[in-house]
Amino acid sequence: MHQYMAQRVHGFGTSIFSEMSALALEHQAINLSQGFPDFAGPAHVKQAAIDAILADHNQYAPSPGVPALRQAVVDTYRSAYGLAASANEVTITCGATEALFATILAVVNPGDEVILFEPAYDSYAPGVIMAGGVPRYVRLDPPQAESDDAAWTFDPEALRAAFGPKTRAIIVNTPHNPTGKVFSRAELALIAELCREHDVIAIADEVYDRMIYVGEHLPLATLPGMWERTVTINSTGKTFSMTGWKIGYTIAPPPLTDAIRRVHQFSTFAIATPFQHAMAAALNAALHSSYYAELLDFYRQRRDLLLDVLRDVGFAVVPPAGTYFVMVDLRDWGFATDVEFCRHLTTEIGVAAIPPSAFYVEPTTAPLMARFCFAKQIATLQAAAERLQKLAARQPSRAGEHA
Ligand code: PMP
Ligand code: GLN
Repeated sequence: MHQYMAQRVHGFGTSIFSEMSALALEHQAINLSQGFPDFAGPAHVKQAAIDAILADHNQYAPSPGVPALRQAVVDTYRSAYGLAASANEVTITCGATEALFATILAVVNPGDEVILFEPAYDSYAPGVIMAGGVPRYVRLDPPQAESDDAAWTFDPEALRAAFGPKTRAIIVNTPHNPTGKVFSRAELALIAELCREHDVIAIADEVYDRMIYVGEHLPLATLPGMWERTVTINSTGKTFSMTGWKIGYTIAPPPLTDAIRRVHQFSTFAIATPFQHAMAAALNAALHSSYYAELLDFYRQRRDLLLDVLRDVGFAVVPPAGTYFVMVDLRDWGFATDVEFCRHLTTEIGVAAIPPSAFYVEPTTAPLMARFCFAKQIATLQAAAERLQKLAARQPSRAGEHA
């Protein structure tokens, strides 16, 4: 470790998303690894950003965010989920990533424990560790059978046991990256009950709330006794297919918002002004149109196509209830680790995927699986399907067919 490197970052490597996207580029692989659309976002949203720049919305925004965007977030959550927040309870951040980081720094004291479901999105634990907190993991286990309602589950007793006197917060990501799990009402009710019982703060990462194919999204903040202890986090990047704009937000009651804004004002201070105006326009237009229903149809079509493609290659798949990711089972494929598989797939087959062991504190304990992203054009998925045929020969039950 270089002497100039602070101890708090010693444990962190390069994010798996940067690593796999770079490898995909190097080998001209079709990139189904890092989650981002390979198609254009809505034209009217792009035009709104251009208009905002030309209208000279080019100086610093107010630190908490452009008022019109904060109000649009309020209106969106009220309309979709009946959540009654005010614009003073919304803070615009640099994507959900800053929202998570600012929230963790704002509420976690050194030595506090933060409960994470494992697999956990890769930025959660580093955030907790940089705040001086200690991650406590509760495992999500993959379903045994392949069916459309087969869900990853956790042991309620393990969750109960994870809560203790040092627990400060729990991060709940629903729909869940990378598993595609949508937490059920009963699961969220248990989480809420434990949060109330132990006076714990809930950090609800809901960036895929508009991508649900089975079941429905239930914001944790809307459960009884949860509003006052929940920070709801979302990002317009997923919903409007503009991940590069990095416009995210938190919704939280005044004491939590106050704490978050104290971090936000000294980390980024404010987020790119014209893009905030454009996202306000996008949210407002979506409220009065069929945008979200069309987005869902669009993704459902791609989900079903990628599931067919992967099954055709011979993978056992876990159909995702939400998100734009699919996990496949790699057991019996002759690879020792998911990293080995994903590197082989990228360099030899020409398709990149994410090894989910990157979402585990102890990668060797991860189930042997790979994550594929379907936020792609149909042509991209079809091109990937063609390349994946080369892999089918390796599938144990098919090896004879191709021998
Ligand atoms: N949380 C989850 C679960 C995610 O998948 C992502 C990104 N894909 C983020 C947070 C970060 O979102 P953003 O790009 O808006 O920072
Ligand atoms: N969240 C995206 C994914 O899961 C990646 C975001 C990033 O690269 N930081 O693929």
